[in-house]
Amino acid sequence: MLLEAKNLRLFYDTAQVLDNLSFEVDTGELVSLVGPNGAGKTTALRAITGLINWEKEITRGTRLAKIHYEGEITFDGERIENLSATEIAHRGLALCPERGRPFREMTVLDNLLVGAYLNKDKEETERNLEGVFELFPRLKERRSQISGTLSGGERTMLAIGRALMYRPKLFCIDEPSTGLAPLIKDEVFKRVKDIYEGGVTILLVEQDVSFAFELAVRNYVLSRGRIVATGTAEELLEDEKIRRIYLGL
Ligand code: ATP
Repeated sequence: MLLEAKNLRLFYDTAQVLDNLSFEVDTGELVSLVGPNGAGKTTALRAITGLINWEKEITRGTRLAKIHYEGEITFDGERIENLSATEIAHRGLALCPERGRPFREMTVLDNLLVGAYLNKDKEETERNLEGVFELFPRLKERRSQISGTLSGGERTMLAIGRALMYRPKLFCIDEPSTGLAPLIKDEVFKRVKDIYEGGVTILLVEQDVSFAFELAVRNYVLSRGRIVATGTAEELLEDEKIRRIYLGL
């Protein structure tokens, strides 16, 4: 297994957000986490990419919620649950956050180059950049534009491109379709599909279940921080209760 998350438990003060959550992703797979709002999907991605550890650091001594977090995460044969987000990124685990979040004051090109800072090989960076521009010609056209002025769809493309600049072993994508108009959403979905078919292993969180179900080899249905069902799209859709209660279909 490339990633194994075991018994993740997380509390913000007394509110339990992850409840013995376990899931796995093998190399070459696209796996999805789906489920209703507030189920803990984003939190699960933040946990495996080290952002909860970072949040713990910044909330220490402030009035923000106290975080209690435990569990085991093995990535590429190594335990990573106590590592920082930077150390985890170095090991090849990338996150594309919801709504992109580029450095707004930097150009598109500079944002992409930030994604490449882990790579000291200039020629490879150049090749990766060409690859990203091929995938998203719109980013190439707009490479000198200040990122804060991009549209929502372009910001999402930029965030995906930025994470791809360091050729992740596992690419976690958090709700790429959030806030996008249907046509742009379709384009983003097509590009995610291209990335997956190009050989990148993906852990996808997506509200649009139909998209996750089209590609994922396995889907984990979360509700209140717990996994309530696991399976292929066909298996999950057969279950009337899961369809109605957790997937809203
Ligand atoms: P959505 O589909 O709406 O994005 P989600 O499944 O991704 O939902 P999370 O964003 O992981 O859900 O949130 C799970 C729960 O944890 C929510 O109830 C949220 O309010 C809570 N939560 C997240 N971050 C914090 C925080 N820093 N402090 C307190 N509570 C938090």
